[in-house]
Amino acid sequence: FDAATLTRRQYFELARGNAAQPACEMSKWFDTNYHYLKPEFDHDTRFDGGAGELLAQVREAKLAGFTPKPQLVGPLTLLRLARVQGIEPLALVARLIPAYVRLLKTLLAEGCEWVQLDEPILALDLEPAWREAFAPVYRALAEAHPRILLASYFGSVAEHAQLLAELPVAGVHIDAVRAPEQLAVFSQWPAGKVLSVGIVDGRNIWKTDFELALDRLTPLHAKLGDNLWIAPSCSLLHVPVDLGGETAWPAELVEGLAFARQKLGELSTLARALCLGRSVCFQALSANRAALDRFAALPARNDKAVAARLAALDGVSRGSYESRQPQQAARLGLPLLPTTTIGSFPQTAEIRAKRAAFKRGDLNAADYEKAMQGEIAYAVAQQEAIGLDVLVHGEAERSDMVDYFAEQLAGVAVSQHGWVQSYGSRCVKPPVIWGDVSRPQPMTVKWTQYAQSLTQKTMKAMLTGPVTLLQWAFPRTDIARADIARQLALALRDEVAELDAAGIAVIQIDEPAFREGLPLKRAEWDAYLDWAVQAFQLSAAGASPATQVHTHMCYSDFEDILPAIAAMDADVITIETSRSAMSLLDAFGEFAYPNEIGPGVYDIHSPRVPTAGEIETLLRRALAVIPAERLWVNPDCGLKTRNWPETEAALRTMVQVARALRQELHSEAALTH
Ligand code: GLN
Ligand code: ZN
Repeated sequence: FDAATLTRRQYFELARGNAAQPACEMSKWFDTNYHYLKPEFDHDTRFDGGAGELLAQVREAKLAGFTPKPQLVGPLTLLRLARVQGIEPLALVARLIPAYVRLLKTLLAEGCEWVQLDEPILALDLEPAWREAFAPVYRALAEAHPRILLASYFGSVAEHAQLLAELPVAGVHIDAVRAPEQLAVFSQWPAGKVLSVGIVDGRNIWKTDFELALDRLTPLHAKLGDNLWIAPSCSLLHVPVDLGGETAWPAELVEGLAFARQKLGELSTLARALCLGRSVCFQALSANRAALDRFAALPARNDKAVAARLAALDGVSRGSYESRQPQQAARLGLPLLPTTTIGSFPQTAEIRAKRAAFKRGDLNAADYEKAMQGEIAYAVAQQEAIGLDVLVHGEAERSDMVDYFAEQLAGVAVSQHGWVQSYGSRCVKPPVIWGDVSRPQPMTVKWTQYAQSLTQKTMKAMLTGPVTLLQWAFPRTDIARADIARQLALALRDEVAELDAAGIAVIQIDEPAFREGLPLKRAEWDAYLDWAVQAFQLSAAGASPATQVHTHMCYSDFEDILPAIAAMDADVITIETSRSAMSLLDAFGEFAYPNEIGPGVYDIHSPRVPTAGEIETLLRRALAVIPAERLWVNPDCGLKTRNWPETEAALRTMVQVARALRQELHSEAALTH
């Protein structure tokens, strides 16, 4: 595309692909669940402006009576996150800077006194070459625009404080919510330069503690005066817009929360208290204190029963894989290369219409249940006809793998309108984990039992794991993430134990967000992996050794964390591999994953039905690194976004290839004996 004339339609094509070109790769923005499209640069790339959309927005804001502070991705973060081929990313700096200079000059001419350049890569473990690039890059930009605010967030940049103080920028923004400890270092900030302190949480939805915030800000204000700015810690795109829309929540919950609109109000109160003195804002401050105290004292946030159960937990061991495996093999009687799916089957328009009618009150609970049972029966019949070995109930009753559990767990609230952008036009409604978590009632047992009652084959139960539930929610911040994960895990363990008692022989605990929770700095990885693995193990501990525990992961770079994945000790892991072009398989070969593994044999994101040849090639590659006795055959991920004809055709092919290979392996074995 010609960047100078990039139209909105072309933006969509970059995001979705067109007949000639696949879409740009999509990746998670740091440790958030927000995705960005990776720009693709190579040695021919020219950077030619293309700021039409931005300028239109600036003019719109000016017409409305505001002088905006436009915000752009900084040049170094842009290069560092891009997919760059055939050239060193930093070698593109010389070409990129003139484009930024032109843009900054244009913005200045439009009357934008300040421009914000985001450089969140400062919060990563930044390699020396990237760090050293900051001074020359920002020296060049300073000539184009007198007032640049260089913004960092999602972590501490204390180690770069000296560098940041010396850069020729007018101001620097730091995240004092995620990394308040860095304020000690930034207390030395030069008085002549703006320091923007992110003091209101842009990533979470809790009311700001004014007293704590003012205690942190007051010494900085004394020193910096007007050069102290206060702001949300990061973009507010990570939180929902307005708490006012949540009319169904109890007042005791609402008073602990602040969405984007409320956060802006908090900032203006804080600014007033700083400038005019706390006594001027006495009412707002004491109301804030009282609300937070009431919220903290809610019995649901200090559930003695949950604490007692966690304290009384003894070992969570299910014994070794070697001891479990023969018991499971005897119980399940599965063939070599068993076939299964990841859990969901097509969420058809009919299913969604039934759920909408039920939520509106147009369909009563009994009729809704009957309708969902019909869907389950259909999915089971299809799977039997296709000839799969381990069946699933299809997740028809779940609109979302997180929401479904959030709605049933105590201590977790689901909003009416709390949407947050995940990618493109797709939004999610993260549940709010506000209290101690427990499970008042079974969540999946009835559906799973019903599904099992329809077939002689093994029915695999389907749960969302503790780390994923935590990662895709707004978690409370008064206790550690590790503790929330333990509470979730305990609730799931109860569910697992009840499924086990009901005679369910295979239970899958999905952890697609396991990798995403990994901290941005390597020094913190071990601590995270430690508690995340423990939480998974705790949830699985409800299963007896003869019950097979599966887990599933997808769409992340797993290479770095294979030992932790192995330490989770699921009996079987199904894992997405086709996007990574099976490079993951090589990693598994080197690492020698100890338990059973089902590398996805086709990409479920495409409506295209894979050919037998393609599946066979992948399976043979898998067989080269994973012993046949430990290899499963399954798609990459759940099938909820597909339709039935595609699904049926793809799974039939998959089963047929697995059977042929099974046959071949048996005759080889017969020959060698
Ligand atoms: N069991 C879920 C499904 O099949 C897993 C989804 C996921 O991995 N994100 O839809
Ligand atoms: Zn998946």
